[in-house]
Amino acid sequence: MIRRTWQAAMIGLARSNTVQSFMQNSRATSFLRGKYVAGDNGDAGCARAVSLFKSSGIRSSMFFMGEYVDDPALVKETLRQKLAVADAIAAHQLDIHISVDPTQIGHVITPEAVEDHAQTIAQKVRELAGPSTGVHCLMLDMEDASLNTPTIALHNSLQDKGLPVALTLQAYLRRTWGDMEQQVRRGSRVRLVKGAFAAGPKLAFQSKAEIKHNSRRLIELMFSDTAKECGFYPIIATHDTILHTFTIETARRNGWAQGEYEFEMLLGVREDVAKTLADKGERVRLYVPFGRDWWPHAVRRIGENPANAALLIRSLFQ
Ligand SMILES: Cc1cc2nc3c(=O)[nH]c(=O)nc-3n(C[C@H](O)[C@H](O)[C@H](O)COP(=O)(O)OP(=O)(O)OC[C@H]3O[C@@H](n4cnc5c(N)ncnc54)[C@H](O)[C@@H]3O)c2cc1C
Repeated sequence: MIRRTWQAAMIGLARSNTVQSFMQNSRATSFLRGKYVAGDNGDAGCARAVSLFKSSGIRSSMFFMGEYVDDPALVKETLRQKLAVADAIAAHQLDIHISVDPTQIGHVITPEAVEDHAQTIAQKVRELAGPSTGVHCLMLDMEDASLNTPTIALHNSLQDKGLPVALTLQAYLRRTWGDMEQQVRRGSRVRLVKGAFAAGPKLAFQSKAEIKHNSRRLIELMFSDTAKECGFYPIIATHDTILHTFTIETARRNGWAQGEYEFEMLLGVREDVAKTLADKGERVRLYVPFGRDWWPHAVRRIGENPANAALLIRSLFQ
């Protein structure tokens, strides 16, 4: 209950333009930016990705920040940044793995253009990847519940065109079991997360225990015999070490080897855990955000853990 209330309050702060503008222009909050964000631009993001790979073999998913963008000029700039970071990361022979929120590339103002924009990014990834091995893709992030159906339809349409695309699904939603079954049969790449948004009891599980229970059921489905036969690629994106252990046990029991699936975590959150997994030979990726619009991303991270209240207070009063 406390956790849901805290998370809902932080989601409110993430969506407030006034708070965003104040926080992003305040020198006091630079501590938070430094914790969760690689830097202001693609060069900083790329430098962090190179350093993670060289120091610990950890891969990256590049994310130019911004969400619910309602300015056409910013949509254009976002597209430019996503394409530029794909070029930069390809030059270092790293995975060309670009995370995108549909509301960054026009869903709010020109929904009819979203597919064209997403297709441009996915085509760029395909062109840069060429025959090289690696997990190259446009990864579609999943936003609030109103975006589920359009994001899944976007994924399926790009996938049907043979483009390298992957999808995020959220364990907090009741519908996700059905969505995952469909993606397993399609042989997709799916990133499973618990969910950083709030929704009512008709749509979503409310307690931490229920969400964790659903995560386990979904992990079993993602590592099922059918998933293997269909060429499905499971991505388990969590900082929850109990789920890491559960994933590894399920994978081994069902005959999945290291490298046939991956773990993904967020920059600045339990990076020691990511390094330990990588040291054990697991494939691990970090989500590497960069750009100037860092407040919504940072405050969502704070919302994920009430213990992070101290971080927010420290940033405001230091
Ligand atoms: C790579 C990646 C991509 C994501 N993409 C999406 C997306 O597209 N859509 C979406 O809705 N959500 C997304 N999320 C966020 C996700 O839904 C969760 O909100 C977030 O991962 C926290 O849940 P958890 O699974 O780590 O478990 P929790 O139960 O929240 O946490 C597990 C453990 O990690 C610690 N922990 C978790 N988060 C933090 C934090 N911020 N600071 C400090 N400790 C923490 C907790 O204290 C706890 O000990 C993504 C997460 C990851 C890792």
